[in-house]
Amino acid sequence: MREPDDVADGVRVVAGARRITVLSGAGVSTDSGIPDFRGPNGLWTRDPTAERMSSYKDYRDDPAVRRRSWQSRLAHPAWTASPNAAHEALVSLERAGRLVALVTQNIDGLHQRAGSTSVLELHGTMHETVCLTCADRRPMRAALDRVAAGEDDPPCLVCGGILKSATISFGQPLDTDVLMAARDAALSCDLMLAVGSSLSVQPAAGLVGLAAQAGATVVICNASETPYDGVASVVLRGPLSEVLPALVS
Ligand code: NAD
Repeated sequence: MREPDDVADGVRVVAGARRITVLSGAGVSTDSGIPDFRGPNGLWTRDPTAERMSSYKDYRDDPAVRRRSWQSRLAHPAWTASPNAAHEALVSLERAGRLVALVTQNIDGLHQRAGSTSVLELHGTMHETVCLTCADRRPMRAALDRVAAGEDDPPCLVCGGILKSATISFGQPLDTDVLMAARDAALSCDLMLAVGSSLSVQPAAGLVGLAAQAGATVVICNASETPYDGVASVVLRGPLSEVLPALVS
């Protein structure tokens, strides 16, 4: 594992950057009480069978996976979570006029709640449902109210089809427009700041390599190693709610 650099190195690099693209992952929200997937307390680390709820095919084909998913959504910590100092630090980067885009793999909406506006949600949002048959979209809250009232797998109210959160599961393509905008942001930045992601999900993680190939400096802040640490000028391992405020101060 690569030895982490000093926060002071990161501060120097970030201070010298004018066009910053951020790629964020689940690690930004752990300090808000939302577990990641692959960290030491990650959902899949503790229960590998939970991974099936993120498979499009398993969700579509197995009613038991859908029933479990609805219970999991109902009890999700995101409904009561608040943004933390890491989200707020990224807001100040945008307000300073130095942010090209905040590309996030997160589905919890906490970047927007904190005040970020230039957010590209690569993996969609958990705040809406989508029908797998007719594509009707509605607020998630309406479906969760039906689950709380006793429907264990609420069907689409328009066509009776299967409802799912409006997130990208494994086996589902990303929204082309969002992905293209994220690629543009990776290609036009002078600094790619990857935060709180294991950088193990493609094509999101590949944005880091793309930015590096286009000449951007790469800074990675993540508690555990990533496949892209080798292309980074600076790698920091501390908790993001401490590291990010220091980096943008
Ligand atoms: P991941 O679970 O693969 O990686 C998260 C990384 O963050 C881990 O390597 C972990 O070591 C690090 N980390 C955790 N807490 C940290 C902290 N406080 N400080 C520094 N590092 C910390 O997550 P990923 O790379 O985002 O990819 C997995 C998928 O998970 C994404 O597609 C995303 O949609 C989904 N997801 C999202 C949320 C959310 O929206 N909050 C939560 C869980 C999973």
